[in-house]
Amino acid sequence: MSSQVNLNATHDPSLSSWVSTANQAGCDFPIQNLPFAVFRRKGSDESFRGGVAIGDQVVDLAAVKEADLFSGVASDAVAACAQPQLNEFMAMGKTAWSELRKALSEALSEGSAQQNALSACLVAMSDVEYALPCNIGDYTDFYTSIHHATSVGKKFRPDNPLLPNYKWVPIGYHGRSSSIEISGSSFKRPKGQTKAPTATEPSFGPCKRLDYELEVGIFVGKGNVLGEPISIDNAEDHVFGLCLFNDWSARDIQGWEYQPLGPFLSKSFASTISPWIVTTEALAPYRTAWTRDENDPQPMDYLESAHNRESGAYDIQLQVLLETEKMRAEKQAPTQLSQSNFNDSYWTVNQMVAHHTVNGCNLRAGDMFGSGTQSGPNPEEAGSMLELSNAGSEPITLPNGEQRTFLEDGDNVIMKGWCEKPGAARIGFGFVEALVLPAE
Ligand code: MN
Repeated sequence: MSSQVNLNATHDPSLSSWVSTANQAGCDFPIQNLPFAVFRRKGSDESFRGGVAIGDQVVDLAAVKEADLFSGVASDAVAACAQPQLNEFMAMGKTAWSELRKALSEALSEGSAQQNALSACLVAMSDVEYALPCNIGDYTDFYTSIHHATSVGKKFRPDNPLLPNYKWVPIGYHGRSSSIEISGSSFKRPKGQTKAPTATEPSFGPCKRLDYELEVGIFVGKGNVLGEPISIDNAEDHVFGLCLFNDWSARDIQGWEYQPLGPFLSKSFASTISPWIVTTEALAPYRTAWTRDENDPQPMDYLESAHNRESGAYDIQLQVLLETEKMRAEKQAPTQLSQSNFNDSYWTVNQMVAHHTVNGCNLRAGDMFGSGTQSGPNPEEAGSMLELSNAGSEPITLPNGEQRTFLEDGDNVIMKGWCEKPGAARIGFGFVEALVLPAE
């Protein structure tokens, strides 16, 4: 079956690279990872082009194309990756992604005959800047953590936290792709309409309850034709890879505007993604079983499959860190706010794809899904400040004595993600960060 999660030579944990930093314990980018980004030399006016991370280096895929190092499908894939956006490569589909991964894995392996030629195509990661990896045509944000949905629901509707559709429908809304930016992009605190519960009328001004959302970003590879749904068993062929995603949220604007049509300006002022897309193939060793509580409704047929039960979930550890302006001035390390795991998600990526297209909606290469805030079952696993501060009623005290209920100007939020287990290479996502600037 095409959707099977297969391990191959590129996943071999004993594989090492002639790029020695890739072999160091704790490295996010060992030879088993090989994630994709779009980059150029920092501060230069070079064209952006595709790159692959290896240790503390980036393989410049435009240079690989020029050097004509690969042949066949891998060569066609490199040509697509030499462009300033990866949409064409993503649209090529699984065989092309896999052939290029195989060629890069062999060329970067210890003892490869291509070492000399390929070492001329490396750029130090410390010397690069990133752009969005592709043109994100459409962006859909899901709501797949039942723990987040329940605790947020309690704050808006104490008697009825989880709406009756939640356990049947992978809930989502259509977001703005225009305001998605790459890690490092700071943004101004948004202004908007808010209404305190006790006020008789709304007021206008800077958001007072600015929050982050710890999410996984999911990139669509090959799309589908309008009117032709993607079945859950074929979903995997359409998912290129995953990144880290911070879906900034203005809770006070959201509380006033969200009914009846859902979030709007409370979300569309900024969203930030990590530069590296980790491919679904690299994540194969970290696929885990997906289960649905026997007391809950079981998925409808179009959201159900044996493969999804066996390995639909992803074991990805997620972490949020905060660096305040004071911490930065005093050179203190960022402090952890929470940690959770994507495998606690109520719905899988394959179910998101199947649901999104079941009405015939067409996905296109480069479209992005947000997973929704990934909160775990325990309070310290909450993926937003709304949850951590109990809607602002219980301030969080940071190690330096500062307190937070929501984000303040000068706060830098950092999110990290990684996969680790015995018998497999560590697969890291790097990080996504962005700084909150004062409202204008
Ligand atoms: Mn969100």
